[in-house]
This record gives sequence, structure tokens and C-alpha cells, in this order.
Amino acid sequence: MSINHDTYISLQTELKEKGVRLVAVSKTKPATDIQALYDLGHRDFGENYVQELSEKAAQLPADINWHFIGHLQSNKVKYIAPFVHLIHGVDSFRLLQEINKQAVKNNRIIDCLLQVHIAREETKFGLDEQELRQILEEPALSQLNNVRVRGLMGMASFTDDQDAVRSEFRYLKELFQRLSPKFGSAFNELSMGMSSDYNIAVEEGSTMVRVGSLLFGARSYEKK
Ligand SMILES: *Cc1c(COP(=O)(O)O)cnc(C)c1O
Repeated sequence: MSINHDTYISLQTELKEKGVRLVAVSKTKPATDIQALYDLGHRDFGENYVQELSEKAAQLPADINWHFIGHLQSNKVKYIAPFVHLIHGVDSFRLLQEINKQAVKNNRIIDCLLQVHIAREETKFGLDEQELRQILEEPALSQLNNVRVRGLMGMASFTDDQDAVRSEFRYLKELFQRLSPKFGSAFNELSMGMSSDYNIAVEEGSTMVRVGSLLFGARSYEKK
């Protein structure tokens, strides 16, 4: 129940120099840990579960930028729409439509990233290149005025093979570059890299890393 203070300071310093944003992934960790990092000046936190996020947001300072990084079900969008800063894991046009609908209700524009499946594992969510292109070609996309697609997000394979991880990140970056003319100038975020592979992700062009256990220690339980 404490944060790795020195690791945070050195990681934040390194990432700031490189112009990369650090999202501190606080899932399963108590609000007191988030508050401790907040007190050091940190504002970007990531959570995977809607209910856990809502509970924490209600008890922590209002100027936190909450990133939703888990798999979001359409029927739960309404709970986070009033306050969420960036939704990283959008993996269908239907979900984008629901986010837009809830954003309209809250009189907001909600920033989103499209999640791309880059890992070898079957279990990880995300779109393939063809599905991404289908979303781009949706005639109704231009009518979603309350969502802004800001870029792409991906998770590399869970493996010690660093070359494989690197090539997955490199592929995501290439896809990002190929698609960005179609999305316009707000399409400028590439969310990739976690505790075990953030350094490779940064070398391959990440603009935003999602780091949990390195900052908060290992999680005592893992939810899927
Ligand atoms: C849990 C999680 C992270 C952080 O993982 P660590 O290995 O603890 O850094 C990053 N991204 C996503 C999508 C996650 O679910």
C-alpha cells in the first residue's frame, strides 16, 4: 500500500524529456496510493473497471484526468461519460456511437483511441486493420460530433521476446501514420507501452505509456 516514489520521479523525468505522457495505472490499488502520486503533482490515472473508476473518481480530486483503459461495454458508457478524460479501448463503431450519445447528453466532447489488436495472443481485444478501415469508411462517422478520435492504442504480446514486442509496436506506429491523414490533426496520440515494455514503446514512437506495477508495486489480484 505505498508507491515507488523514486521510480516515479525518474520515470516521469525521463518521459517528460521525451515528450511522452505517463498514465499511472491504478487498478486494484487504493485511493490513498492515487492521492500520494497526486500530491507529487501527477494528474493522469488509468483504470480498467467502470465501477472501480466511478468509486475512486467520487472520492479523489476533481482535476484528475481519468483514462479508461479497459474493455468498455456499451451499457456502462453512461457511468463514466460525465467525467472521463480519454477512453483508450474503443473497439467497435457501435461503441463509438454509444460514447457519442452519452457525450451529447453530458454536453461534452469525449476523446477516444481505437484499440488495435497487435499481440499474438487471442485473448486481447482490439480491431484488425480491415476493421479499422471499415470504421473509417462508415458514412455515419462524420455525424458523431461529440467524439473525437485522437489516435490508436495497442498492447504487445506478453513475452520476453523483445524483438517481437518491438515489431508489434512498430507495426502500430506505421498503421497510425498511414491512417492519420484521414482523421485530421487531432489524431496525434499513440498509447502503447506498459511496465515491462514502455522503453521499447517509447523508442518506437509512443506518445503515452500506461504504467502500473512499476509505480504501485505488483497487483495482489488480477482481474480479466
Ligand atoms: C493493467 C494495464 C496496464 C498496466 O500494466 P503494468 O504491467 O502494471 O504496467 C496497462 N494497460 C492496460 C490496458 C492494462 O490493463
